[in-house]
Amino acid sequence: MSNPPIHVLFFKMTGALFVYDERYPGPSQEVISGFSEALRKTRFYSKEHVAGKVSRCRDREKEIELTTYYLNWMKTPEGQEYLREAASWKDARISQAFTRHAKGFERKGISVPEVIRCSPKRRRTTHCYECKYHLDNAITPECSSCGWIICECGACGCFFTNA
Ligand SMILES: [Zn+2]
Ligand SMILES: [Zn+2]
Repeated sequence: MSNPPIHVLFFKMTGALFVYDERYPGPSQEVISGFSEALRKTRFYSKEHVAGKVSRCRDREKEIELTTYYLNWMKTPEGQEYLREAASWKDARISQAFTRHAKGFERKGISVPEVIRCSPKRRRTTHCYECKYHLDNAITPECSSCGWIICECGACGCFFTNA
């Protein structure tokens, strides 16, 4: 695993390569940002376009070449502009999670529980039972009522039914 967390992936159908940088996953959980080898710039891929359709590049030389190119591109004015935009995604995604979380309670006429921004518990990752999205309490805060990580779709343990 390289550091920073950057992966070179390819589409199994076309062989098209792109760089996926875990630090800047995309503006929402439905839209993934990647640096396209063909375009030599970042572009958005829809989640359906990528899920189950990409694999890690096994060509070590290609991997190094593209990763190096990407990291150098980040230093250009275009790359810097992208960085500024990408930095705002995290906050936007968290606030969207809060809004959707609150709406769930409002719909049921229940008072909205507080949100724990910095969990006292150790870091943990899991998956959302509702939308199956990957959850990480280092990124998304927790619900004070159930202690679960709040997903961007708004789900937490308060609405979980094992039926
Ligand atoms: Zn979810
Ligand atoms: Zn909850």
